[in-house]
Amino acid sequence: MDTIALYIHIPFCQKKCYYCDFNSYSGKQHLIKDYVEALKKEVLMYKSVLNNYRISTIFFGGGTPSILEGEQIADIMDTIKKHYDIEDNAEISIEANPGTLNYSKLKEYYSKGINRLSIGLQACQNTLLKTLGRIHNFEDYLENLEEAREIGFYNINTDLMFSLPGQSENDLVKCLEKIVLLDIPHISAYSLIVEEGTPFNDWIRDKTIVLPDEETQLEMYHSVIEYLKEKGYEHYEISNFARPGFQCKHNMVYWHNKQYIGLGAGSHSCFNKKRFSNINGIEEYIGSVKGGKIPSENKIALSTRDEISETMFLGLRMTEGISVEEFTERFAVSPFEIYDKQIRKFSAQGLLEYDEANIRLTQKGIDISNVVFQELLLD
Ligand code: SF4
Repeated sequence: MDTIALYIHIPFCQKKCYYCDFNSYSGKQHLIKDYVEALKKEVLMYKSVLNNYRISTIFFGGGTPSILEGEQIADIMDTIKKHYDIEDNAEISIEANPGTLNYSKLKEYYSKGINRLSIGLQACQNTLLKTLGRIHNFEDYLENLEEAREIGFYNINTDLMFSLPGQSENDLVKCLEKIVLLDIPHISAYSLIVEEGTPFNDWIRDKTIVLPDEETQLEMYHSVIEYLKEKGYEHYEISNFARPGFQCKHNMVYWHNKQYIGLGAGSHSCFNKKRFSNINGIEEYIGSVKGGKIPSENKIALSTRDEISETMFLGLRMTEGISVEEFTERFAVSPFEIYDKQIRKFSAQGLLEYDEANIRLTQKGIDISNVVFQELLLD
């Protein structure tokens, strides 16, 4: 039986962070109860699909999944377990934000088979956390981490950000030092991207806040890579670092361009040569599911050329790159044949390298990956 990944979106947050444009909402917690019921109903709407697969990974993402009561997450897990076949060694992750997490929630997650915790810390300096509009401080993170480990969680990710207003390279390295000392096996480190419609966007425009210049941003990124590599982490994807054996299996499904189903408001799916997403609004999502209608929209049928392009640029996000054999097996054509022109050009520019087994970006290529990816889109 083939496997499939499951993503579950929890779009509630206690307070909106100043940089965030994710599909998440504050002040709508009164809808949580109905939302959980709708999610459980949506789980069942996929019976005809999911009954043909074994679930290899489950990921509760947000928003802030840990804003829900532990019992509500347990209830969703019970529904999935009752109706579907989950692999014995499935990776089951939950994103959790300090300030919403506690011992009893962690205990509930663990007892229901959730075995990976992804903690949104973002920075170790409380002044930076305040600048970002986060609801927690570094001490909350430490407390949650200690509780999680006491309960038995060992597969733990910590999300960090760099290129923040007021953040020096020294702040970043000091933070990495702390996280490494805490022996966190997986670190995601993202550069701040300022998005339209966020308070940060306005504040940057009117110069209330100032970002590090581009050169400093790149230096910060390189510091993260060098420091974590030196400490034994593998830089396995543009923004992700793991100790051996701790790569995020769920995200690998995305980067290998394999199938997944997203449940919940605004979630995305890739299944049966189609991409589709659910309605963003919480009320609309609940209304649709209550009315017995799968809340998906924007269905895009993928041509083989779409799939090839996506497999190429998603695969190149990973430092191991594209497996020539897997690609050729999947599309019955070699990537060297389809991308002959681009591969020659990028390798001459030192952006890409290859051998018989793999095609991958060099560090120089990773630094400007968006430019490279743009040229891999087939017409
Ligand atoms: S906690 Fe995450 S999802 Fe929620 S507002 Fe902050 S960045 Fe956005």
